Parts: sequence; C-alpha cells; structure tokens
Amino acid sequence: MIRIPKNQKRRILIANRGEIATRVAKACRELGHTAIGLWTDNEVHATHLQFCDEWIHLEGSNNKETYLNVPKLLQVIKENNVDAVHPGYGFLSENSDFARELDKAGVIFIAPNTEAIRLMGDKAISKQIANKANVPTVPGTDTAVPTVDEAVRISNEIGYPVLLKAVAGGGGRGMRACNNEAEVRANFEAVGRESLAAFNNGDLLVEKLIVNPHHIEVQILADKKGNIYHFFERECSIQRRHQKIVEEAPSPFIGEDEELRQRVCETAVKLARAVNYDSAGTVEFIMGEDKNFYFLEMNTRIQVEHPITEEITGIDLIVCMIQSALGDDLMIPNQEFITRSGHAIECRICAEDPITMLPSPGKVTGFDTNFPQGTRFDHCLFKDLDVTPDFDPMVGKLICKGIVRDVAIRKMEAALDGLFIEGLKTNIPLLKVIMRNENFMEGRYTTNFIKDENPQEKVALDFDHDRFYKLLASVEARRMGM
Ligand code: ADP
Ligand code: ADP
Ligand code: MG
Repeated sequence: MIRIPKNQKRRILIANRGEIATRVAKACRELGHTAIGLWTDNEVHATHLQFCDEWIHLEGSNNKETYLNVPKLLQVIKENNVDAVHPGYGFLSENSDFARELDKAGVIFIAPNTEAIRLMGDKAISKQIANKANVPTVPGTDTAVPTVDEAVRISNEIGYPVLLKAVAGGGGRGMRACNNEAEVRANFEAVGRESLAAFNNGDLLVEKLIVNPHHIEVQILADKKGNIYHFFERECSIQRRHQKIVEEAPSPFIGEDEELRQRVCETAVKLARAVNYDSAGTVEFIMGEDKNFYFLEMNTRIQVEHPITEEITGIDLIVCMIQSALGDDLMIPNQEFITRSGHAIECRICAEDPITMLPSPGKVTGFDTNFPQGTRFDHCLFKDLDVTPDFDPMVGKLICKGIVRDVAIRKMEAALDGLFIEGLKTNIPLLKVIMRNENFMEGRYTTNFIKDENPQEKVALDFDHDRFYKLLASVEARRMGM
C-alpha cells in the first residue's frame, strides 16, 4: 500500500481573495498546514475566511492599498511568522520583485523560481527563449519595436493583418489588430501610451495576427528536483476582449488527433525545461486553421481554468503546487502516470451585463444552487455579498464533467439552470445561449466565436422567458390569489 509521507506543518499566507483564496485555503487544510487569510475593509464576511485558520485585516478597500501593497504584505509576513505565500492568480502572482523580496526574507513563494517568473513575464524575452529552444513562435519581432516606421516596415514584411502587443501586457489588454499600414500608423503610439499607463512599460511587439485561431494551452507541473510533467491541453477559444469565458478539456479542435496533442504537450514541456520550470504553470499557444501552432506566453502561476484539468486527470493541482514549493513528494512517478478520461467544461460566472459583457457591480440579495451530478462550483458567493468595482467581477466558476463532450455540455446547461444569483446582473443568461449554440455544440468555434455568432443578441429573448422569472411570477400570482 502506498502511504502519504508525513510532512512538516507550515504557516501559509494566501495573498489573494475571492474564489481562488477559498480554493487554496481548502488545499492547505487538506495538507494539514495553517491557512492564513487576508481581508480588506469591505470583506469581513468573505467566504474564504471560513476556510482559513487565521485572519489578518489589510486596511483599505482597493488593490493598491491591499493585495498589491508589497511593503504592507511583507510586514504582515514578518509579524505572523509566515513560512510560505500562495499568490493565487492576478495580483502579485507573477511579480518577480515580490518573489525576490520573499527570497531575501527566507519565505517560500508557492510559485516557480524568481528567474522563471521574470523571464516569462516579458512577452519579448519569453519569445526569445522560445525561439532559442526551437519552440515555434508567432511570425514577427521578438524585441520591442522602437518606432512607428519600423513597425510599418515589419508589418509590410510579414503581411497583414498584424497585432501590436505590449511586452508587459496581461488580462487581454494591451493588444490591437491592424489591417493595413494606415492602421499601424494610427494605433502604434496610442497602444504604447495605454500600455505604459497600464503596465508601466510602453514597449510593443509586432506579430502576425493568426486568423480564425484557437487558443490552446498546456498545463505544466514541475517539482524542485527537475521533473517536469504536462497535464494535457485546454481549449480557451471562447473569449470576449481577449479574455476567456468558457474553457474545455480536451480541445475539440485537436479532437482525436493524438499525434498533434502529443506534439503540443511535448513542446510545452520543452519550453518549461528551457527556464528550469519548477511549479504549476501554463504554456499558451495560438493554433491556426492549418493546425500549425505558435507559442503565445507562459503564465507562471495557477490559472483560473485549472479545475477542468483536475477533473479530467483526477489530480489536485493546487495541492501539488504547494507540495512542489515545500519540497514535499508529489507522488507522481512519471509522465505515464498522468492519464485523462472524460470531458470537462468551465464557465466563468461574472457579475456583468450579459449583453454588453461589461462589469455590473451590486449586492447579492439571494443565492441558491441545485446542480446535477458531475458539477463543481468554485466560488465566493453568499447572500449579501457586495461585488464592488474595486475588484475583478468574476464571482465563481461552474465546472461540469461528463464521459463525453455532449454529456458535459448537457450537464452545464442543467447546472446553469440550477444556479440562482439574485440582486445583480450576471453573465449566466449569455452562458446558456453559448451552451445551446449549434456551432459550440458541434465543437466548431474559434476565438472569433463571440464576434461571429453574437450570442449576446439572443440573450434578451432568452432572458424574457427565463425559468427563474416565470417561477417568481407564479409565486406572485399565487400570493395575489390569481
Ligand atoms: P487565466 O488564463 O488564468 O484566465 P487571465 O489572463 O485571465 O489568466 O488572468 C487571470 C486574472 O489575472 C484575471 O483576474 C486578470 O484580470 C488578471 N491579470 C492577469 N494578468 C494581468 C495583468 N498584467 N494586469 C492586470 N491583471 C492581470
Ligand atoms: P494575455 O497576456 O493578455 O493573456 P496573450 O498573448 O495570452 O495575452 O493573448 C490573449 C489572447 O489574444 C489570445 O488567447 C488570443 O485570443 C489573442 N491573441 C494573442 N496573440 C494573437 C495572435 N498573434 N493572433 C491571433 N490572436 C492572438
Ligand atoms: Mg494569455
């Protein structure tokens, strides 16, 4: 019988909020570590605190004062004898300066080594590393383009459409497609200026815009002993504003092409090896209609959509990530040990208008769930939760697994029908339209899905007939004695 080795109990600070803080706290608890949670001025009732063993108040209500406040966090870490910090995603998760400060303080960052974070955090440097490692990259530059004339020269050479892309960009921001020379001239300075304001760095790359592409990414997990494994791919082509909303694993576009799947996954491992990767991370690719694929970026952190990979492989990535950072045994003997079965889909549940897809903050006045078998809901919801404009509008992730893709979709439809969030607008009605879209159901979609199919146009109709409102109306009718 294989026994779990007994590990040392550590004090782990969760430097994040929302659903990911809850997810990490649960993993800490499972491993027997002490989970230390943070809360800001408006978060005294936050869900994640229920799963933590200790709570620390960060004074303030916005990102800058709290979760991005490095001096304050370093002070908290020192005062509370913290052994390790889990950064979740966003916030300081890919901040190599913070990682360096933790190194100096002798505190473990539950992340890859500082050098890997730094190298992969820059879209130009990471592209250079990929080129050197023979990992295909998108045609274009791998150094910042200094002038608009140079940008035009390169665009003319690689051919239109092209994409101007901030080397420090993230979260789908700092990108602009250009169809001709005039558009490059019109956009170059504006994108640079916006990137400087958003990311403190105005450097831009010029690369070919791959048309009708698929966003395919590979989950990596590595330990501190040189073992690097892949956990197969995810397809995240359903996006709005270059941000993912629905993800699935395996990719319907790769489908049964095992040779291609193997090649994509091995390419990701090759790149991870080039930076001595030693944690959980994701290598993102863009794949064209012709199935050629190119490296986009590496996210040196756990990603929002990691649960679908956990569902098809049965392995807890957050637990493994913590074990890897603490130098504990991952209990994964080799790559062949990691197998997959079935199909998993994730829908990001956001407090946003389902038609404009823009954030719509507000107070949750009611919350209930009634899910089919095979559903997982990672969330931070409760009645009276105030979704403020200070933080990300994503309040949860609905994950459904089925033996095949059709079953996962059917379960997702039922799960969306069984998720009741009252008091504020959410994208649930939009997600329902996507699940019922014929091309989605056939697995025929690219990153242009939202633009091509306009599912938001069907939302209004669906919304009028929404089951939940009919139910409310019938309750009202009974009360009125009608
Ligand atoms: P994932 O692939 O994990 O979904 P995203 O790029 O969507 O990754 O980012 C996850 C979270 O981190 C989101 O909340 C996103 O807004 C935020 N984020 C990622 N990179 C940045 C960045 N450079 N600046 C601001 N926010 C970011
Ligand atoms: P971020 O750091 O914001 O996540 P990425 O480089 O990962 O930036 O790109 C985000 C999304 O933008 C991709 O998933 C894809 O939809 C689109 N994209 C990025 N580069 C290209 C490209 N060269 N051609 C077509 N689409 C692209
Ligand atoms: Mg990305």
